[in-house]
Amino acid sequence: VQSKRNESGDSGAQGELALLREIRSRAAKRPSSGLRLGIGDDCALLRLGVGEEMAVTTDLSIAGHHFRLDWHPAESVGHRALARGLSDLAAMGARPIAAFLSLGLPRELTHGVGRGPAWVTRFLSGLLALAEASKTPLAGGDLAESPVAVADIVLTGAVPRGKALLRSGARPGDLLYVTGSLGGAAAGLARLAALAEQTASRKVRLQPPTIPKNLHDLLAPHLYPQPRIAQGLWLMRHGLASAALDLSDGLSTDLAHLCEESGVSAEVDADALPLHPAATLDQALHGGEDYELLFAAPPAAKLPRKIAGVGIAKIGRIVKARPGRAAATLLTAHGTKLLKPNGWEHFS
Ligand SMILES: [Mg+2]
Repeated sequence: VQSKRNESGDSGAQGELALLREIRSRAAKRPSSGLRLGIGDDCALLRLGVGEEMAVTTDLSIAGHHFRLDWHPAESVGHRALARGLSDLAAMGARPIAAFLSLGLPRELTHGVGRGPAWVTRFLSGLLALAEASKTPLAGGDLAESPVAVADIVLTGAVPRGKALLRSGARPGDLLYVTGSLGGAAAGLARLAALAEQTASRKVRLQPPTIPKNLHDLLAPHLYPQPRIAQGLWLMRHGLASAALDLSDGLSTDLAHLCEESGVSAEVDADALPLHPAATLDQALHGGEDYELLFAAPPAAKLPRKIAGVGIAKIGRIVKARPGRAAATLLTAHGTKLLKPNGWEHFS
């Protein structure tokens, strides 16, 4: 490989090696039960328990589509990239084993600006903090220079054979539940967009705004969503959920997925939705990226008010499929509406 010198004095190849070394030293924290061999060899070695199946999910985060360099702090981009995959594991009732990260980054994101750390260093801080909190070691990946920032994450998890929570098991008569609250991510995103707009009009820079302390709580559901791993594991162990998935695209879209896979329809009680205090009903229904769990359970299932500290709300019921009609309906004080999928919109 021929390396070319750049302005900061190192070569592309050396820069990549330094970044690899940084990632390796920061990722290799402690041994974990499912990861026998992490970064450093040709492959990672994962170890499943006896009678376990492996759950695997991948998520692509692309600048301009899934995040914006001029809106999102680098730490948040790293956190969200991992959170999306962890949330998919949670939705299956899987315990995380290891994460794999492939990064394609423009040169300016791998070098520090002024005296500050490089964008990629801050990205890793966000990702590795969540990896540590969720006991999900970073076990490998790849690096390349790319004209657009791209993070591709692969998550592996384990679940006892035959026990994974699927989208396909809901039956008419089952009740519908969600964890936590809805719409907080969309409300936070709206506020973040407004903040970025204000900042951009004052100085033209491709940098995210500094987030004032008083907005931290409001923006947290969008910038730092918490995947419901403990709640998914609880549901899997207790065998109470007939179907489950995570709310990545918004309740209206994700509920339609659950209905389609189960061959059923659903009714949602608008008044029963656990709205985030800052969210509108529209944001709760269509906002997306809340990363809560949506699940169905038979009426006889005894569910606690909270699972691992997170509230559980009963929001409706599963009914027989109505061929040719929208899968879900919304029951409000003013009547019944069709609940059409209208969730996820890319940043434009
Ligand atoms: Mg999902």
